[in-house]
Amino acid sequence: MDDRYSRQILFSGIGEEGQQRLLAARVLIVGCGALGSAHAESLARAGVGHLRIVDRDFVEPSNLQRQTMFTESDAEQRLPKAIAAANHLRQINSEIDIESHIIDLNHSSIERLLDRCDLVVDGTDNFATRYLINDACVKHNVNWIYGAAVGSYGVTMTIRPHQTACLRCVFAEAPPAASAPTCDTSGVIMPIINVVSAVQVTEALKLLTGRIEALHSSLMQFDVWRNDWRRIGTGKPRPDCNTCGLGVYETLSQPTEAAAVLCGRDAIQISPAQPTHLNFSTLAERLRRAGEVKFNEYLLRFKTGPFELTVFADARSIIRGTDEIATARSLYAKYIGN
Ligand SMILES: [Zn+2]
Repeated sequence: MDDRYSRQILFSGIGEEGQQRLLAARVLIVGCGALGSAHAESLARAGVGHLRIVDRDFVEPSNLQRQTMFTESDAEQRLPKAIAAANHLRQINSEIDIESHIIDLNHSSIERLLDRCDLVVDGTDNFATRYLINDACVKHNVNWIYGAAVGSYGVTMTIRPHQTACLRCVFAEAPPAASAPTCDTSGVIMPIINVVSAVQVTEALKLLTGRIEALHSSLMQFDVWRNDWRRIGTGKPRPDCNTCGLGVYETLSQPTEAAAVLCGRDAIQISPAQPTHLNFSTLAERLRRAGEVKFNEYLLRFKTGPFELTVFADARSIIRGTDEIATARSLYAKYIGN
């Protein structure tokens, strides 16, 4: 595989030295849906030496239209996305290290996952997680690349803590819940994923190879259906920004949300206060009396009446069939317990 990277080395922006830097780099990819799987594939092919992939979800048939990493077999097996992605990435490039983490990123896990990373690439689908990434990256001085896509619209911005504006400099608050369209309410087409992820990955290559002068230094917005492309300069950090100006990392000190509505999916996620390690066969034995149970190495699925619970090894559960936290908590307490 001596010439694996030859065309990339020929490219004057990267060269031999740039390639060596990529091979030595460590990148955290948060979220492995449509954007995250595009990041993971491109960075693995480019020869980024260490990829750490974090995702809380499993592959479903409705992902296959745009989440190019996954196959029908992944969806049939309901593999966690972090595992399915790592399986495919190892076939694409066996020479790099790939770590999978099937967890929900929160204030207690993010700083650990950031450990020794040179860069974070955002493949999440929600603002709460992005502010968490922003706080942790500003606090630990790690560059990160924001990206989002819904419908035919996408947006991206590259954040270098204390050198450029951070996410909170540009958006002081997240949009109120249910005010913004999501992929589950407004749909999404694959080309916008390609556009946003292409810009994010290119920025990642520039940062990892030290080509700071080539960064786009703006909030880039695209609408591939309306043919609208815009760039707004983001400028310097704001002295009055809570995060990068005043050093208040509010999302890092908040206790874990025990319950979160999974936007537009008629589902609620419940995270245990204390992570644990479940024995699925014992749990399955118990639940079989109350409904239909299936499990594999990574998750257990339990159907009862109109509800479906997907339980992960750390006891985090996704409860489908309700958008009410109280109902979800009660099902959790009833079947999984604390
Ligand atoms: Zn800021």
